[in-house]
Amino acid sequence: MTTVESALTDAGLDPDHGREPSRGLSGGGLRVPFADLAMQTAEVRAELDEVWTDLLDSHRFIGGDVVEAFERDWAAYCDTDFAVSVANGTDSLHLILRALGIGSGDEVVVPANTFVATAEAVVLSGAVPVFVDVLPETLLIDPAQVEAALTPRTAAIVPVHLFGQMADMTRLSEIAQRAGVALVEDAAQAHGAFHEERQAGSLGVAGSFSFYPGKNLGAFGDGGAVTTSDPALAARLRSLRDHGRGLSDRYVHDHVGMNSRLDALQAGILSVKLRHLDGWTAARRVHAAAYRAQLPREVQMVQEAVRTPSVHHLAVVRTDRRQQAMEGLARFGVDTGIHYPVPCHLQEPYAVYGRGPLPVAEAAAAEILSLPMFPHLTPDQVSHVCRSLGAVLA
Ligand SMILES: *Cc1c(COP(=O)(O)O)cnc(C)c1O
Repeated sequence: MTTVESALTDAGLDPDHGREPSRGLSGGGLRVPFADLAMQTAEVRAELDEVWTDLLDSHRFIGGDVVEAFERDWAAYCDTDFAVSVANGTDSLHLILRALGIGSGDEVVVPANTFVATAEAVVLSGAVPVFVDVLPETLLIDPAQVEAALTPRTAAIVPVHLFGQMADMTRLSEIAQRAGVALVEDAAQAHGAFHEERQAGSLGVAGSFSFYPGKNLGAFGDGGAVTTSDPALAARLRSLRDHGRGLSDRYVHDHVGMNSRLDALQAGILSVKLRHLDGWTAARRVHAAAYRAQLPREVQMVQEAVRTPSVHHLAVVRTDRRQQAMEGLARFGVDTGIHYPVPCHLQEPYAVYGRGPLPVAEAAAAEILSLPMFPHLTPDQVSHVCRSLGAVLA
């Protein structure tokens, strides 16, 4: 067994999966989907039987022990005192901002190259998103640009731990502290990542997670959570996610809240999958190293900072011949994606908040290409992607 194969076996994965050939494709006929959730589901299927049975017997579909157990599990995993589960990762960001009292008249600094939900949550809170540029090597928010964007109206900074790698939380914490503004982590792509030995979601005043099926920890539907060690903030979030209910009397409403609860079915599934997360992350790291070793010279992987080991939510490379690469890879049976082709400040509904060009994010948007990345990839599939890309760009 090769080192890669034994690392995958250690992570509980089958290095032989995916060897079945399919017809009509160049380069040996191997198919490489962008992400294969079926394999992940098969891995946890037996453990889920208990989740269904308990749920159908208890009829506690919303709230209850199963949700509370997952919240305890997730807080422990993220090294925070509390986790407050919500319906998705957009609500979690939106509710954090509202629970912090951020809204109309406030500015919130966000990176330009993120999933639109980061900016959307700011607008939903009533505040104004202030888009800043990113670092060219990692495509993570540039602390110097954050500092330059601060005004007396700045209420929060929301770095995004993009592609699985954490932003420079040391510098951002200093900047936030000096300015007296909240630091909120958008950790939707960084379950289990860490920065100088501290877990994603535990460095800001609050962390926001999504459990959308394709995230590193994914439900069988939508889900999200806030992590925090601030008891008052956690209490406000519990109330806001549940119609602003008073914590002592459920018929007294302290706030105008919303309905953003994680249901018990998703919570039970997430508790089961959480037991596998570190193994799946280890497998993603094996694949990332294999990509790095085998990718052709014509493309560069987004750089990984040593002190913030990535959990590789996505495997992103840069190439100035992206269209050619995507079409060529498709002929070799390899699916790809782009995260994200249009930066937020150039999206139509957000253009009003733009304040001029953001050259690093804009240049990256034209060149980035996401290669297949999921725990159950095989060494053969990674090699096939790299060889195919070499053939296409040669
Ligand atoms: C997925 C994602 C979100 C939103 O999560 P949903 O659960 O889909 O609402 C927010 N921010 C980032 C960076 C994401 O990748």
